[in-house]
Amino acid sequence: MNILILGSGGREHALAWAVLQNPKCDKLIVAPGNAGIAQIADCAGIDIMDGGAVVNFAEENAIDFVIVGPEAPLAVGVADRLREAGILVFGPSAAAAKLEASKSFTKEICDAANAPTAAYGHFTDADAAKAYIREQGAPIVVKADGLAAGKGVIVAMDEQTALDAIDDMFGGAFGGAGAEVVIEEFMEGEEASFFILCDGKTALPIGTAQDHKRVGEGDTGLNTGGMGAYSPAPVLTDEVAKKALDQIIQPTIDEMARRGTPYQGVLYAGFMIKDGQPRLVEYNVRFGDPECQVLMMRLGAQAMDLMHAAAEERLDGVEVNWADDHAITVVMAANGYPGSYEKGSVIKGLDALPEDSMNMVFHAGTTARDGAITASGGRVLNVTARGDSLQEARDRAYAMVDAIDWPGGFFRRDIGWRAL
Ligand code: ATP
Repeated sequence: MNILILGSGGREHALAWAVLQNPKCDKLIVAPGNAGIAQIADCAGIDIMDGGAVVNFAEENAIDFVIVGPEAPLAVGVADRLREAGILVFGPSAAAAKLEASKSFTKEICDAANAPTAAYGHFTDADAAKAYIREQGAPIVVKADGLAAGKGVIVAMDEQTALDAIDDMFGGAFGGAGAEVVIEEFMEGEEASFFILCDGKTALPIGTAQDHKRVGEGDTGLNTGGMGAYSPAPVLTDEVAKKALDQIIQPTIDEMARRGTPYQGVLYAGFMIKDGQPRLVEYNVRFGDPECQVLMMRLGAQAMDLMHAAAEERLDGVEVNWADDHAITVVMAANGYPGSYEKGSVIKGLDALPEDSMNMVFHAGTTARDGAITASGGRVLNVTARGDSLQEARDRAYAMVDAIDWPGGFFRRDIGWRAL
């Protein structure tokens, strides 16, 4: 099978790494890819937001199967263009990708599916939004409706912060994404992510994870795209997972199918769990980054078969071959991230690291220059390891981190602390 993966992050490096382990993969191209991906696969510089360009490229290169990494091409219908051209694709249609692209749409689906989630109101008018905040009181959560790269959510512990967030959002701080806002009840509990493959009808869980969003140790400081993750998430016990599937995931899939917009791809559900009861925080329509890195590390070669079965709508009866293992990924980021950071610093020591089924360094923002790997983004490396226990995986990951010589970068030393 000739496979094309769209994207350029650590997530896509992990997807490429897993796909290459599967003997059914004859050829792999990643577009646009990055310096780490280029070490294992061909990279192609096409515009992945342009559905026509992706279809042409896939046809010219006899691609049999396309895996879409990020949400942005899904939201603009790249998977639809591929399907129209008769090319098999893993990833939802633009209509189904609204589960991530519009928070009010997700709330509407939860209402219809009777799925446990935070009580909410949605508004296109600042005065009405503020009246609702005053009526509900703090703590309260204000969210821009559209895609805002993880920055459109304000968890307000006092009323004034929530009111200010309304001014910011309607004032255009998030562009079109903030033209509508969702205001939610503040939910208490522990957060965890659940990853489920869907083929329009069937839901197949492929793992759980927890991430560390804050830049500083002890989960302090500014929000980031994620400073590390581990799988499984102990709080998502079998019992909680069953509730999540029966009360939230399957009813969502059924409701999407009923509306004529079946969901196909990976559904990444964020839950708040309290007293054994999960409530939905959000859906994403793609793998998390860095959660994908730990999931791929644990699934290995079967990941491709599972995604392929989802795309071919034959998940019913498919089983995941579970290993009783743990994986962890530590993000190394450029000094200054998530604020402004320097680009171009040289990273040494990568060649000497073990790269096998237990240890991998997945690249995010890297560039190859004059034979060296240099940092070209905020989040730069995902140092990932697997083990029989989380502690073992963690020790292995930090041993690799310590062997990387990169004065231009930093990392958190406490990834996984909650679970250990
Ligand atoms: P990302 O994709 O980065 O996770 P997002 O913009 O899609 O972010 P959400 O996941 O909806 O936004 O919210 C971001 C974070 O805010 C959540 O991970 C959670 O910690 C917190 N949060 C969101 N909604 C609530 C809520 N109702 N109660 C408590 N915390 C919440």
